[in-house]
Amino acid sequence: MIPQQRRNESISERQVAADLKRLKRQVAKTEAEQRRLRNTIRGLARETDVSLGCSCPHCEQAYMLVRDGLMYCPSCSNRLSV
Ligand SMILES: [Zn+2]
Repeated sequence: MIPQQRRNESISERQVAADLKRLKRQVAKTEAEQRRLRNTIRGLARETDVSLGCSCPHCEQAYMLVRDGLMYCPSCSNRLSV
């Protein structure tokens, strides 16, 4: 029975190693996409005279956009005066 157990452990370990490799690739891909989006948003903000504020205190699904003394959330439309 011991060789059978070892084989099962080995399959399980190989599966974990494969999952880990896949997850690492996914994280790297997600991080690269996040960097691209962050740079694009910064560029858009510069070109449209908008500043990026803090994370929306109401929904936390977007950063607040600041323009003309008004801060607003593009996700939930929460508005605050600056
Ligand atoms: Zn919001």
